[in-house]
Amino acid sequence: MVVEKLEDIIQIVRDAGVIGAGGAGFPTYVKLQVKVEIVLANGSECEPLLHTDKALLKENAAKVLEGMKIVMQVTGAQEGIIAIKGYYKDVVAAVEKELSAYPNIRLHKLENYYPAGDEFLTVYDATGRVIPEGGLPLSVGVVNSNPLTYAQIKDALDGKPVTHRMITVAGEVARPIVIEAPLGMSYRELLEKAGGVTCDEYAVIDGGPMMGKLVADLDNGIGKTSSGLLVLPEDHFIVRMRKKSIGEMVRLSKAACCQCFRCTDLCPRNLLGHELYPHMTMRTIDYNMVEPSQHITSAFLCSQCGMCELIACDFMQLSPRKVFAEYRKLLASKGIKNPHQRKGFDVRESYEDRKVSIPMVLKKLGLEKYKLPYPELMAKVLKLSKVRLPIRSHIGAPAQVLVTLGQKVMIGELVAQTEKNSLGASYHASIAGSVTDITDSYIEILGDLK
Ligand code: SF4
Ligand code: SF4
Repeated sequence: MVVEKLEDIIQIVRDAGVIGAGGAGFPTYVKLQVKVEIVLANGSECEPLLHTDKALLKENAAKVLEGMKIVMQVTGAQEGIIAIKGYYKDVVAAVEKELSAYPNIRLHKLENYYPAGDEFLTVYDATGRVIPEGGLPLSVGVVNSNPLTYAQIKDALDGKPVTHRMITVAGEVARPIVIEAPLGMSYRELLEKAGGVTCDEYAVIDGGPMMGKLVADLDNGIGKTSSGLLVLPEDHFIVRMRKKSIGEMVRLSKAACCQCFRCTDLCPRNLLGHELYPHMTMRTIDYNMVEPSQHITSAFLCSQCGMCELIACDFMQLSPRKVFAEYRKLLASKGIKNPHQRKGFDVRESYEDRKVSIPMVLKKLGLEKYKLPYPELMAKVLKLSKVRLPIRSHIGAPAQVLVTLGQKVMIGELVAQTEKNSLGASYHASIAGSVTDITDSYIEILGDLK
């Protein structure tokens, strides 16, 4: 489809329901309303064991580059950068093969470390620009999105709304896979597609091992931000850490934090120069400080990457990450906004030396046995007996349900949408069928299997 007017492109992207597919869920049309110098595709996929973006780039790098070209046109950017780990030579080769058709887009090879995909780090690695505290890529003239988001922008301009997404299923499954699944396909069915679970007592994580969240109900479905599904034994260190309550963590921290400084040494945002010192924040718990001092409000600077918890404090098994998340909730409930806005600072000298390689992360987390060169790439799923389509995947105002119980829907039909003047997203039926349940968080569709 050839669309001339820039505002029409923005509206099409909004109507197609494109939101950040990498995990944040920020509505993409908003990013298209600004003028920037650089459009960045963050293909680092730094969560160990996930291969979703890599599979997409190997299969269809041209679609991602086309999406970037559209965003460059809309935002006026003169330069595009696609950032990929140099370690994945076949992915690099697949992108390089297409790049000659895009003279304003260049490839940047990232090192194979965690968290190379934290957008503050990707922007610095790929452009040399440091995002200020509390800032966004936009603060330094960059729009940054995940490769799948760019592919979905291209699809949107071709008249296809977001109904499916690629997802990796890995860990304790018989046959790790990457699959293009309808939104709302149940975690249970995805595990079956991967040949089933290979241990008795297990937990399922939506996302990667470092930042993913435990799945409470396997009959619920994947959303627009679900990039991976990881199955681990229930007694695995990662699962135990996820299950620790904040109360338990505070009690343990008071007794066991030895102020060794390792969490601060390895904190990627601290290394970037931000005033974030997790070991000092752990000290505020010891003294029951509830007033918002610097080491409490610095919770606004934490990316929740998990380095402090899963890598730095693997011996004491404490979680500055959880403490920061709790402080952030507390500050928000008091209406306190982020006071940290420093800019113009230098990256710390140890930034390069303290990068933690992915092989080291896998070893420390006991995940080496699940590592594969690539999982099997499976065909797109078009028909299913049922989906529970999540309608709360995005940041912004809730989407209003537009269908009623019993209503027949076609694949791609609009079923929920945020009001026009609010930040939000649209959702479309991912299979053809009948609406059988509507809740605050999902629309259930019983599939028409004929
Ligand atoms: S939280 Fe852990 S890593 Fe950080 S200072 Fe305390 S014991 Fe050391
Ligand atoms: S989760 Fe920990 S390591 Fe990551 S940014 Fe926050 S404090 Fe730093």
